[in-house]
Amino acid sequence: MSAEKSGYYSRPGLAYYLTGELKEKQLFPFSTRDFNALGVHPQIAQVKKLLPEQHLVELQDGSYLGYDRLLIATGACAARVNIPGADLKGVVKLDNLFDAQQIMAQARRRRTAVVVGGGITALEIVEGLVARGVKTHYFLRGDRYWPNVLDETESRIVEGRLKDHGVKIHYHTELDEILARKGHVGGVRTKDGGTLRCDIVAIAIGIRPRVKLAQECGLEIERGILVDEYLQTSAADVYAAGDAAQVYDPFIGKHVIDSLWGPARQQGSIAGRNMAGGREIYSKTVAFNVTRLAGLTTTIIGTVGKGKDDDLVGIARGDSETWRQLPDAIIAQQDFEVNRLRLMLGEKTILGAIVMGDQTLSKPLHTLVSDRVDISLIKSRLLEPRAPVADLIAEFWSHRRTVHAPQLA
Ligand SMILES: Cc1cc2nc3c(=O)[nH]c(=O)nc-3n(C[C@H](O)[C@H](O)[C@H](O)COP(=O)(O)OP(=O)(O)OC[C@H]3O[C@@H](n4cnc5c(N)ncnc54)[C@H](O)[C@@H]3O)c2cc1C
Repeated sequence: MSAEKSGYYSRPGLAYYLTGELKEKQLFPFSTRDFNALGVHPQIAQVKKLLPEQHLVELQDGSYLGYDRLLIATGACAARVNIPGADLKGVVKLDNLFDAQQIMAQARRRRTAVVVGGGITALEIVEGLVARGVKTHYFLRGDRYWPNVLDETESRIVEGRLKDHGVKIHYHTELDEILARKGHVGGVRTKDGGTLRCDIVAIAIGIRPRVKLAQECGLEIERGILVDEYLQTSAADVYAAGDAAQVYDPFIGKHVIDSLWGPARQQGSIAGRNMAGGREIYSKTVAFNVTRLAGLTTTIIGTVGKGKDDDLVGIARGDSETWRQLPDAIIAQQDFEVNRLRLMLGEKTILGAIVMGDQTLSKPLHTLVSDRVDISLIKSRLLEPRAPVADLIAEFWSHRRTVHAPQLA
């Protein structure tokens, strides 16, 4: 059951829908017939209240629905800015298909936009607007793009590519007020007192897990809905998964929030099996996300960043807290033009990697990080100045594959 009229679609695909690379129908992987074949009957309805003791949910229209087991997968929503003008027409966000359609409708009629926020979603909106011919100003609160995940070189690569496409980046710039013109966005005032005329303001400063339903019925909440290793909440027969859930990460010993498509799907299917009587443990895998930053394919694996990002008030879309839980690590890196590889090295293992451009090594690196493969043999060579990091990893990988290849009888 979902409140969204459009039903199940690829949320990550919205970025490509905005740029015009995907048509709307390509966002929908399943037809009604596919759902029927599974015996699933999607229902469009807004849930108003959960009554776990009675095993009931109350819908917005006042009706009730009984359940044996309940999954809460209410996702997350864009954090709001608390400034005058935030509710004006022309202020947009990107949570869902409806939002993407609103952005496209605005872009058809308007010429200038301001985008605020330092993570993937803000960048996706910038790229969508640019692809639709809108003059785009991009406000960053700090001095570079996504500093808690990317290093300075990577941020500058992304920024350079945006500037090449005509995006005007405003560093150290924060919104103070959104100004109205005939009931619509007409401009913005920044905290340093400057003003800028624009017709669209897009806000993507982070997301908040949707926990209201769970909170109101007394489930245990921290920032997300707390679940145990079986994805069960503090109430009997109630499970939670995806962006709304805060799940245990045995690697760092904490409950963390992921807002990634892959983990949401994996959690959903394990919760489903447990709801059907199984007893399967969800063990969080090493974060792996293939994304596109300013047109550059980028894979983020394991732990890569550190510190705080002032541009994001919460975790970002398509993001994992694990990326920032950085234990002691040193860096090996190699880059040439837009192909860049950065490794975070622990004592004997690779803790994380960023692969920008050529993706040949992203899958091997995911395995090396996930399996905590001992790379002591090549570590000192990886750390030499101007080390051919990619070649060393490729060589190590192919040697390992030969040694571990199944032997033919
Ligand atoms: C623009 C965009 C780009 C993204 N890009 C990536 C990416 O590149 N890589 C990646 O890994 N992840 C990406 N993500 C994140 C990814 O889509 C999410 O992690 C994933 O969709 C989470 O799934 P979920 O089922 O937990 O929640 P959602 O997909 O958010 O679904 C929650 C659903 O619950 C419904 N709902 C909420 N409250 C109620 C209620 N009271 N009653 C009825 N229905 C309700 C909502 O309407 C919604 O349909 C992106 C997200 C967005 C928005």
